[in-house]
Amino acid sequence: MTIASARIAGNPRVPEPVNEQARGYAPGSVEARSVLAAIDAVKAAGVRDLPNVINGVRRPIGDSDPVVAPHEHALQLGRIPVASAEAVNAAIDAALAARHDWSRMDWQDRVAIFLRAAELVNSKYRDELMATTMLGQSKTFHQAEIDVNELVDFFRYNVKLAEQIYTGQPFSVTGVHNVMDHRPLEGFVLALTPFNFTAIAGNLPSTPALMGNVVVWKPSEKSALSSDVVMRIFEEAGVPAGVINLVHGDGKLVTEVAQASEHLAGISFTGSTAVFRDIWRGIATNLDIYRSYPRLVGETGGKNAVIAHPSADPQALLVALVRGAFEYQGQKCSAASRAYIPRSLWRELREPLIETTAGLVVGDVTRHETYVGAVIDDKAADRLGAAFDRVKQSSDHEILVGGSVSTDKGWFVEPTIVETTDPRSFVMSEEFFGPLLSVYIYEDEDWDQTLRLLDTTSQYALTCSVFASDRIAINTALDVLRDNAGMTYINDKPTGATMGQQSFGGSRGSGTNDKTGSVLALQRWVSGRFIKENMTPDLDWTYPYMG
Ligand code: NAD
Repeated sequence: MTIASARIAGNPRVPEPVNEQARGYAPGSVEARSVLAAIDAVKAAGVRDLPNVINGVRRPIGDSDPVVAPHEHALQLGRIPVASAEAVNAAIDAALAARHDWSRMDWQDRVAIFLRAAELVNSKYRDELMATTMLGQSKTFHQAEIDVNELVDFFRYNVKLAEQIYTGQPFSVTGVHNVMDHRPLEGFVLALTPFNFTAIAGNLPSTPALMGNVVVWKPSEKSALSSDVVMRIFEEAGVPAGVINLVHGDGKLVTEVAQASEHLAGISFTGSTAVFRDIWRGIATNLDIYRSYPRLVGETGGKNAVIAHPSADPQALLVALVRGAFEYQGQKCSAASRAYIPRSLWRELREPLIETTAGLVVGDVTRHETYVGAVIDDKAADRLGAAFDRVKQSSDHEILVGGSVSTDKGWFVEPTIVETTDPRSFVMSEEFFGPLLSVYIYEDEDWDQTLRLLDTTSQYALTCSVFASDRIAINTALDVLRDNAGMTYINDKPTGATMGQQSFGGSRGSGTNDKTGSVLALQRWVSGRFIKENMTPDLDWTYPYMG
């Protein structure tokens, strides 16, 4: 006898989530030694096969692409299959076959599966996830730690938010019983994830799955090593075969095949703005074939500003700029990449900021002293190198520190600060997704107009930081910059949103602002059905006014 769902007599409560706290990884500490041993094990294992996982089956790799360590590109860590239409179609078929049972499973069972996933990340797989994130995505101990913790947080908080949705029910009146059936979407969801966060890679396929959807997941080629671990966690936690299917390879091909299916019910994308626009266009072109309008969720690029008022604390500002701009090589969508500093404060800040930036150690992320690892690939290094060349040729720009790229061993880009006298310069408006901070100095009395300048200089609206102790100045900034960012930080860096506290997302060119880590994000994967049950059906078809 198979029991798909054992309804128990009771309404269990989902545990109250708490944020995972970051461990220190001081040299010689238990946690550092444990992760270094895991790193050695990953390296010793040689080139790992990172196959597609379709309907629970690991398929032979066939033609493959290499997966390497960005800070040591001669070190091949794995290989992934190249994308094929056949694999994508097989993944769609597997998802649709799994849909009936998964969509009808009691939501409490799905909650249990993802609570188990949280604990697997936090115990059995923690060191391996740390090691694969550090090696494959070039993250330092601390950056990998906050990434892995965020994945734990996603699982723990999302299940609590799911409870909020499922227990949300309409009012009923005497003689009528109203029920909301929070159904999953009809069809499958395509999840396309970026290279820069293992947590996002795990969150995008699992959020729709938690709400009863079936998923085709295409991780970034650049995070394939850690995505393979995440997939094993899903399976071990109890996600049934076919519910989340992992397909590697070229995103365009995978997306085009998925977009050609009438059963495409939604796309959950995090990545660059240009790619998301292409995806939206593809959906528009195919609109007539779909059974339902596919839901499009896109969290995309940023050109995040830090603006300081003359009343700001210069040391707090320095820390925010260094951490916000250069941690993880500036490869966070929320990274600080342009700053507006008043002339009086700049006199005090300039030299310490240059000195601190020049002292940041760039190199192998497995060494404790490293603050800045390698950018993700040769294309990223070339993009930053080309920006530096452009800056060097312009009289409106001056490189204050950094400005060089070295690619012999790994794709290393020096943390770089560019001062510009052109507030509309390309370095103040374009996303470079690397360790490049541009600075514009404004006159102290120009606070209001500098806020408006900031607001109108780039197409993005993701994060923004305001540094001031003057309350009126803060209020003016909050008002002028209301539409400028989905997340505004006061006297803090613009990175580091914490699940359950600051939910993530931006509008304008930065995405659909569906607020990852909030109930709004889960709601996108639900298609409600109201059920009205009449306990006293009318027996007379006439109305009193008829006489
Ligand atoms: P990317 O756009 O290159 O890739 C993202 C995913 O889309 C990958 O899986 C990739 O293989 C796939 N893809 C690439 N080209 C595609 C195409 N033509 N059609 C369909 N899919 C395609 O982004 P990335 O380099 O992995 O990540 C960096 C970008 O992501 C930055 O712009 C950053 O700001 C953004 N990002 C945004 C957020 C956010 O929450 N707003 C978070 C992380 C990253």
